[in-house]
Amino acid sequence: MRSSMSKFEQHLKSLILENGPMDVGTFMNLAVGHYYSTRDPFGAQGDFTTAPEISQMFGEMIGVFLADAWIKMGSPAPVLLAEAGPGRGTLMADIMRATKNIPGFHDAAKIHFIEMSPVLKEKQKSTLGQGATWHESIHTLPDGPVLFVANEFLDALPIRQLQYVDGQWHERVIGLDGDAFVFGVGAPCKGPVVVPGDNDVFEIAPAREQFVIDIAARLKSGKGVALFIDYGHDHTACGDTLQAVRGHKYVDVLSDVGESDLTSHVDFETLKNAGSRCVVYGPVGQGDFLKAMGIELRALRLGKREDCNRLVADDQMGTLFRVMALCDDPDIKLVGFEG
Ligand code: SAH
Repeated sequence: MRSSMSKFEQHLKSLILENGPMDVGTFMNLAVGHYYSTRDPFGAQGDFTTAPEISQMFGEMIGVFLADAWIKMGSPAPVLLAEAGPGRGTLMADIMRATKNIPGFHDAAKIHFIEMSPVLKEKQKSTLGQGATWHESIHTLPDGPVLFVANEFLDALPIRQLQYVDGQWHERVIGLDGDAFVFGVGAPCKGPVVVPGDNDVFEIAPAREQFVIDIAARLKSGKGVALFIDYGHDHTACGDTLQAVRGHKYVDVLSDVGESDLTSHVDFETLKNAGSRCVVYGPVGQGDFLKAMGIELRALRLGKREDCNRLVADDQMGTLFRVMALCDDPDIKLVGFEG
């Protein structure tokens, strides 16, 4: 038996009763918004653990990557050090610690966070212990050169799902069966030019594409580098990758909505195109990237081989997680993508 509906689920239900079944993008946007705005979901006691929460080495490697890029850009000052979806602020704290001996970097770097969750904003303030500026979107970032990073941010941006039924693509929607949310088939719509099988699902992510298009435009106008790390695939393909995680386990996407972390795999092929105004690096596996940045020697020094293994091994986070960078300047050669 399902438990009774939460206030948030009742709100979703009333929206569906009023407007009809909702597309997956609207559903995901509302569910993710509710989820992050009402909790700190990270760590062993929470729902899931991200790379910066596993080990300080992750942020250290990214700090070195960004500082190297900054030097190659000619050490501009000031430079925006911007992060989208900073979670607890752990990655930025590790980036700052790893770069404190780089002459001029800390004086130049102005920290800017793009974060929608009031709960996590407070957490970021206390983790960082220094000044930062918060934004709702990248559009209010000040002009000028930028070093940008986002880890497990794109996967939280909403996707739409299309489903191939009766020889045609349709919007996949979420409707009601009593008090239960159920998937359904909505209006016919344009879909990809592939030859799908019956009931195949195809995911599109306009919000992710727009985000990368905006970042690429931003790098072009203000100079800079952006680094994206996320789980996903390098080639566009059919498949339903929408998933919900709660208490470190996969749970039903449509049960206890707003109480689990709702994400989908990132289609990097589309995002490479979205970023193509810039030079695009990768995507490469997180393992290859971190190894190229020297994580194995750092792990040896810290006596943290196991943590390193979680980040780089093929059967852990090393292959599923992909790393992609954008840079406006074709004369700059970024590190980490030599492979
Ligand atoms: N980068 C962190 C957290 C990843 S979880 C880490 O690696 O630990 C996703 C983060 O993105 C959270 O901070 C969440 O609140 C934020 N987020 C999700 N959707 C967002 C949106 N549309 N706008 C701004 N922040 C968002």
